Amino acid sequence: MSHSSVRRPFIAGNWKMHGSVASNAALLAALKAGLAGNAAEVAVFAPYPYLDQVARLAADSRLVWGAQDVSRHDMGAYTGEVSAAMLRDFGCRYALVGHSERRGLHGESDALVAEKFSALAAVGIVPALCLGETLAERQAGETLSVVFRQLDAVLASHVPALLAYEPVWAIGTGLTASPEEAQAVHLALRAHVAKQDAAAAIGLRIVYGGSVKAGNAAALFAMPDIDGALVGGAALNADEFLAICRATNV
Ligand code: PEP
Repeated sequence: MSHSSVRRPFIAGNWKMHGSVASNAALLAALKAGLAGNAAEVAVFAPYPYLDQVARLAADSRLVWGAQDVSRHDMGAYTGEVSAAMLRDFGCRYALVGHSERRGLHGESDALVAEKFSALAAVGIVPALCLGETLAERQAGETLSVVFRQLDAVLASHVPALLAYEPVWAIGTGLTASPEEAQAVHLALRAHVAKQDAAAAIGLRIVYGGSVKAGNAAALFAMPDIDGALVGGAALNADEFLAICRATNV
């Protein structure tokens, strides 16, 4: 059986800290119009203030949406934080956790990422757990030990359903892991999960992230363990993002 018949492709746009009421509306309208007939599950991860707008504009479409982060706390005196229950309250189904910009720029540890994962899972939101090594770690031959360490922090309490392998050196840099390099890590991640839960590992969607564009998407998606993409820069351009979505139809 090909991977596409076991696992529905997942293509997600991580908008990061980009957007406005006007530009979001235009982007979503273009995506909704362009997604007809596409087999992938297509998601956008929007900044918090725009989640309600995205929820309303996506409601009559097959676009799904999510948050880029969450608090590890349930409620209380945590100024500036947003809880998983708040996200769930207006229908959020997905959230990123452990994006390398959160780990690197905001000092998020593996343990904190695991706590955030648990907070999401507790309210029924699917966490998209982001993993990936830095360039120095890859050059030191530590890629697998790093991503296994990041994964193990979560596996201690949960079996994930959605992973995003994002080599830090490929995010926003124009550098992409080759399809073979990415496939090797995806295969290793799936095998690692299989040691804990073989059935879950078969259904586990592992998407690749790091400078995915229309021009390199199809070769990545042709790999048996690459189940889609988490797209940053190219997700802000409707034509480019739609072309990536169409590249899953191979
Ligand atoms: C990301 O932010 O998750 C990402 C992969 O960014 P880019 O596609 O811009 O490299």
